[in-house]
Amino acid sequence: AEESMRRSEKQAAAGRLAASIAHEINNPLEAVSNLLYLIRTSGASSALVMEYAAMAQQELSRVGEITQQTLRFYRQSNQPSDVSVVDVLRSVLVLHNARMQSPKIEIHQRFADNIMLFGFAGELRQLFANLVGNAIDAMPNGGSLYLRARPAWVDGRRGVRITVADTGVGMSDTVRERIFEPFFTTKENTGTGLGLWASEEILDRHHAAVLVRSRRARFENDRSSGTVFSIYLPWDGVPRGPRIVHSAAHALADH
Ligand code: ADP
Repeated sequence: AEESMRRSEKQAAAGRLAASIAHEINNPLEAVSNLLYLIRTSGASSALVMEYAAMAQQELSRVGEITQQTLRFYRQSNQPSDVSVVDVLRSVLVLHNARMQSPKIEIHQRFADNIMLFGFAGELRQLFANLVGNAIDAMPNGGSLYLRARPAWVDGRRGVRITVADTGVGMSDTVRERIFEPFFTTKENTGTGLGLWASEEILDRHHAAVLVRSRRARFENDRSSGTVFSIYLPWDGVPRGPRIVHSAAHALADH
């Protein structure tokens, strides 16, 4: 019974990760689909059609970049390893770069030197891709994205504190309390509500602690609104060494 429970837990985790990768490539694919629709139906001039085609090509190369980077990180990800937090955060900025050009989102990054974590590289990347993606979604008129990573100690344990903050629309208390629920989304047509659900699983697996602070916009372009995700990841949150030990010794002789 324990074995079958372990297996279904694993399947649930794999399902969540698959869902969040799908979530990542959904936006560019939707853009391509919309551009093709425009090309087919709008009767646009051939110059405009060329422009749409170029945009579609750009979106598709983004999908390619996403899948390649995802594969690269996931290859490292079956086994936990020493992960450079700064490498992960930089790759997340590459992933979302196109979406921060217009409206302009200014990036303020502050990374301490050489901060490492023992964990699952692909999952950590996924986690921060979700947080940064949400921050961008929250700033439809542009704004500032703050990314910070520094060494930290909590209860005598060495770790890393990573902050992802935006000057976006913020959340009400009732929204904030539900963000980690599966399928909970306030993005009517574009949201899946799976990003933070998958992220929570990843945080759990790394024994992380999260603090979410948010202040909702009171009026249009309210500059005092926004959201801060502050995450503490212990350096040794993921156990070192194999979780299953094989031995050729006689099973009962050792007891
Ligand atoms: P999705 O992005 O598909 O909606 P998520 O699970 O990633 O799914 O997020 C759930 C909800 O949490 C979002 O729909 C949004 O309402 C809220 N949310 C998450 N991050 C932020 C943020 N940085 N600013 C404002 N709202 C946020």
